Amino acid sequence: MGRKQEKVRFWIPAGILVLLFFLARQMPLYEPAPEDPFTGTYWYNPYGNVTPGGQWLRSNFHAHSNSWKFITNGKDNTVGDIVTTYDSLGYDIIGVSDYQHITDTRTVVPATGTEATKNRLFIPVYEHGFNVCKTHQGTIGARMVYWNDYVLPQTRSQKQHILEQLGERSELVVLHHPAWMGGYSKKDVRRLSGYDLFEVLNDFWISEELWDVALSSGKPAMLIAGDDAHNVFKPTDLARDLTMIHAGAQDPLAPEDVYRALKTGAAYGIEVTRSVARGSVVQKRACLDALPVLQSCRIQGDSLVVVLSGKARQFHFIGQDGALLKSVPAGADMAADAAGSAHTPDNAAGVADSAFYLLQEQDRYVRVKIALPDSSHIYLNPVMRTMEKNKKPPMPPVRKRRLFTIFDT
Ligand SMILES: [Zn+2]
Repeated sequence: MGRKQEKVRFWIPAGILVLLFFLARQMPLYEPAPEDPFTGTYWYNPYGNVTPGGQWLRSNFHAHSNSWKFITNGKDNTVGDIVTTYDSLGYDIIGVSDYQHITDTRTVVPATGTEATKNRLFIPVYEHGFNVCKTHQGTIGARMVYWNDYVLPQTRSQKQHILEQLGERSELVVLHHPAWMGGYSKKDVRRLSGYDLFEVLNDFWISEELWDVALSSGKPAMLIAGDDAHNVFKPTDLARDLTMIHAGAQDPLAPEDVYRALKTGAAYGIEVTRSVARGSVVQKRACLDALPVLQSCRIQGDSLVVVLSGKARQFHFIGQDGALLKSVPAGADMAADAAGSAHTPDNAAGVADSAFYLLQEQDRYVRVKIALPDSSHIYLNPVMRTMEKNKKPPMPPVRKRRLFTIFDT
């Protein structure tokens, strides 16, 4: 073998090693976030300001238009179509979350719209991510698009880096459909920080179990629910999962009121019964209008008391590690209770409009999931242990590893 060949054999791998080293130096590394469950003598209640008769905004922040043509579905599905359809469904907030693009919906006024819908609140949103594992994020109150992403399966530090960058460019950062295709693993959600909302309910994937993992490791991730609609002409894309946001007393509402409500947790999710999945817009609207709303969720003495404006079939109280703490009425198991299952309950008319749970010393958080007579489900945000009175426990700070911050800008 000639000397020249030997040289080549040495330099190629050496060159690759040097290249890999510099690539690694380009990417910040992060400390894993602490995994400590919520602690403290106080309880934080996200619904502290909710009073009976309060106004709730019907919202969807996750719908895609035809802006990416054949890559996403629904070639005829324009921004105007999305706004008009959701307007007919009685939505107060209509987000068009195209990939890497903030869509201004203010120019679109549905022909049938009333004065109120013409002055609809505009909340800028978009979906970030173009990688192979569907590690996607939503940004709400987006100021500008962040164009970088890691295309191959991402390390935890890469995921943290993206969340940090999005946080600098928007009001709220969402983990979109986090359990879908392993976009975020259990280990990820225990160790990631620096985001606000968890898309627990999404038309493609329900991430309820993963949410409990995040909450159990002390991440105060508040819930959001979205259709992730790709074609509003397909009934199964519409009004499947929605977020109800407490409007408070402000009139007129400003985007900041919505951000505050989502961040503090004054919102809840609805998984709409599968029995209207293929229904018309009119049928879906009637179903949504008939659903009871949250009247109050209070801590009275040691009890967590939830009151709805109508009857429910069953209330489930869920705590640390997703444990079922109590069901009201007792007996039926949660599995039989999946939305739209063939199971026909005896108590189809609903049994009670309220339920309570006696908070225990060992409880770290308690959330309530409510099965309604039509098999729709309401998911409330948790009450959480906290060190400071009336203060939501904070997300742990995002910390870079020291060694890798030397050349970092
Ligand atoms: Zn997505």
